[in-house]
Parts: sequence; C-alpha cells; structure tokens
Amino acid sequence: MLTDRDVERYGRQILLDHIGRKGQEKLKKARVAIVGAGGLGTVASLYLAAAGIGKMTIIDCQAPELSNLNRQVLHWECDIGKTNKAESAKEKLLSLNSDIKIDAFVKKITTENIDVLKDANIIVDCLDNFSTRYTLNEFCVKNQKPLVHAAVEGFYGQLTTIIPSKTPCLKCIFPKVTDKEIFPIMGVTTGLFGALEANEVIKLITGAGEVLAGKLLFYDLLSNSFDIIEIKKNEKCEVCANI
Ligand SMILES: [Zn+2]
Repeated sequence: MLTDRDVERYGRQILLDHIGRKGQEKLKKARVAIVGAGGLGTVASLYLAAAGIGKMTIIDCQAPELSNLNRQVLHWECDIGKTNKAESAKEKLLSLNSDIKIDAFVKKITTENIDVLKDANIIVDCLDNFSTRYTLNEFCVKNQKPLVHAAVEGFYGQLTTIIPSKTPCLKCIFPKVTDKEIFPIMGVTTGLFGALEANEVIKLITGAGEVLAGKLLFYDLLSNSFDIIEIKKNEKCEVCANI
C-alpha cells in the first residue's frame, strides 16, 4: 500500500497513465539487483532509487578512485580511500530516498556467491567485463530472471533486455567477447545507458510500454545515430538451448 508520503513523493510519475498508483505499488514491492556500482550502476541505481524501487542490492568489490569520478556519479572525492563502491552508493541513495531498502554486497560476483541474487526479481548488468557477464547470464537463464544488459565504450553503447525462455540470452548474442583491461569512456555515455537501463527495469515492473526483448539498441553519441536490430536465439547456445 502507498502511504501519503509515497503519493506526494512520486506524484509526478503516478500522474502517468502507464504508471498510476498500481504501477507505483509494483515499484514499491520490486526487488532489483544492480551488479556493478560504476558508471552504469551509479546512474541506474540513482534513477531507480528516485523512482521508488522498494529494495535494491548493490554489488561491487572495488573502492572509488580519482580516475572513476568522470562517470561514477555516486562516488565523490570524499569517498576515496575511505569506503568501497557498494557502501558509497548505498549511503548516497539512502540520502536521496530513505523510504527504500538497500543492501550493499562488497564482493565480486562468482558462481560461489551468486545466490545473493536469488531474491531479486530483475538483475541489472552494470559490469565492465564479459567474463562476469557470462556468469550473470547463466544464473539468470537457470533461474528465469530478466537481465537488463548494457555495455559502453567511448561515445558508444548498446542495450538489450533478456527474458529467459523468450529471448536470446547474452551468450546467443555475444558468444565470445575478450575483455580489455582499460578502455576509454565518456561519462555522458554511461549516464545515458545507466538511465536507459533504469527505464527498462521500470517498464518490466509496471508493464508500461515495450522493453527491448529480442532487440538490441546501439547508440553512437558522436553522430547522434541510433539503431535497433532484431536478435535471434542460437539454437545451439550452450547456455539457453536446452532450457
Ligand atoms: Zn543463449
């Protein structure tokens, strides 16, 4: 049930036909896991906290560094050397919205600890490497949990929403990506794609509009050109073919 405070706080989005009080209640009941509290995760979690997601788990094992601050907007100079990214994000998000619950998980996600995601209704891939993304993808396919994926580099980004059993999985789309140690990135790119990931989560929860299920969006911020392509399942996919 929404409180009077909820109705006041979220009034502008409750006015939307696509959301309304029912949609807001769904957001309040939702459990979302943000995997990675870097450029994508700080922005996605910021908008999801503002929108009133009832409970979020923020997962990151690293500590904020000066070189992160061009894009990881929840980590500030005062955090460097004092805290880790999951706790830093939790503190800022609760300052924005004390009516929601946030768990900080200060570990790198592995097959041994991935059950920390079991309570989440939706998983948001805010990672910067495909080796952990593949672990996340396998978990989501096995446990039938929607996975919102974004990846960025420079002025370029891509986005899709994976719904196990219905859409191609990450391994169908990107069978083998070799990770780079360090790559260039503009903060506006992570900001845009983090916000788009939050939007996919809100649409998944409320049923508003359409999500990018079976579709991959590309955006080149230098030329302001974007494209959406249909993606197909790999019938021989080692992760989802037999599910
Ligand atoms: Zn697959």
